[in-house]
Amino acid sequence: MSDDLEVARKYTSEIGEEDVGKQVLLYGWIHEIRDLGGVAFALLRDREGIIQLTCIKKRSPDIIKRLRKTRRESVVKVIGEVKKEPKAPGGYEILPDYFEVLNEADAPLPLDVAEKVPAELDTRLDARFLDLRRPRVQAIFRVRHQMLQSVRDFLSEEGFIEVNTPKIVSTATEGGTELFPISYFEKEAFLNQSPQLYKQVLMGAGLEKVFEIGPIFRAEEHNTIRHLNEAISIDIEQSFTDHEGVMRVLERLIRRVYEDIAENCTKYLEWLGVNIEIPELPFPRVTYDEAVEIVKNKGEEIAWGEDFSTPALKALSENIEGHYYIVDWPTEIKPFYAMPYEDQPEISKTFDLMAGSLELASGAQRVHLYDLLVKKIAEKGMNPESFEFYLNAFRYGMPPHAGWGLGADRLVMSILKLRNIREAVIFPRDRTRLTP
Ligand code: ATP
Ligand code: MG
Repeated sequence: MSDDLEVARKYTSEIGEEDVGKQVLLYGWIHEIRDLGGVAFALLRDREGIIQLTCIKKRSPDIIKRLRKTRRESVVKVIGEVKKEPKAPGGYEILPDYFEVLNEADAPLPLDVAEKVPAELDTRLDARFLDLRRPRVQAIFRVRHQMLQSVRDFLSEEGFIEVNTPKIVSTATEGGTELFPISYFEKEAFLNQSPQLYKQVLMGAGLEKVFEIGPIFRAEEHNTIRHLNEAISIDIEQSFTDHEGVMRVLERLIRRVYEDIAENCTKYLEWLGVNIEIPELPFPRVTYDEAVEIVKNKGEEIAWGEDFSTPALKALSENIEGHYYIVDWPTEIKPFYAMPYEDQPEISKTFDLMAGSLELASGAQRVHLYDLLVKKIAEKGMNPESFEFYLNAFRYGMPPHAGWGLGADRLVMSILKLRNIREAVIFPRDRTRLTP
């Protein structure tokens, strides 16, 4: 491979009117080959699209010979002349004058990249590197990239500081059994379920507004279309505000993500066949009590104080379109760090953000008062002593604060209307999948 400084390297999508009659350099994979004798057509695919290579025997007899022997999905380097061709995908074709196979692909392929043969999700995930070559699949991760970039841009513009907190920890965030134990030299440790405790300690550290985008680990036994054992969580924590304050940040963030995707990802949305609508603000707020009533009226069983079952959430989402908040949850079913209302301690300053029947985020104003926090940890049956590093931060000037955790994978799933969260994750981890 030489540098070919005299010929411009282009992505297939960059070929345009200005290139007609000129030589361009392309790298990519052989998507398909159609041999008609005197002429052979091949589709060259790179990460930005597909272009037709038209190889005419009379023009380049050696190249057509080499192309015919090239197996699908081999990676190639091509230099050739650009011609207008309305019948070719994208409206242009390349007449190759140089053709080099950089690495020949083995055959048969474990997965058909050209998608002539449909494949089950499991087969696709097993051969994920090939699955990802499919434009439709790659598009998901281009949109995901835009989402992550928008989140970073938006929160940074809002004055949030990006932090990274430990994922190997000594205590459970919320207790419970959803913990992965690991051996840490002579001690037992765990993979963190959430950055919750650390985010709050950072409020005690005076950082005021922080965010983290990082993995959370949950040893949930069940296999569902919206749970993974390793997920990416977008978390914020903000001082001198309450649950309403951080709900406003969250809904503006969601809107910004949609706006940026609509503006910058048209091509990828097209590959996916997905239309997105930018959500209107503010998102409707439904209290837990109202939601229970709606669910009951739809004939679903639920008692006050219970979490919503999947059928209950389905029933609820038939009544409320798009994004909405369920607010003011029973204190009992929310974590110990959620702040109860002063005048009605059985209700807490908590919220879940929903997209249809899918939970995207949970948040709350937090308990910032040391004595109340110790009491609430004990009430949940946990030992306050094992929370020493956390509780200490509340003794020496902890400001009032609030925050939320938003599932990045669920957000992608809901924006792109994917049926399964695994579609939104490059290498998902679930109850049975530990490779690739
Ligand atoms: P669910 O009730 O759907 O199991 P949760 O209430 O246990 O979720 P939280 O602890 O509130 O989850 O975590 C905040 C957000 O992180 C969730 O709203 C969700 O978007 C995401 N999340 C939590 N657990 C998982 C998981 N196992 N897989 C994927 N995303 C998750
Ligand atoms: Mg939740």
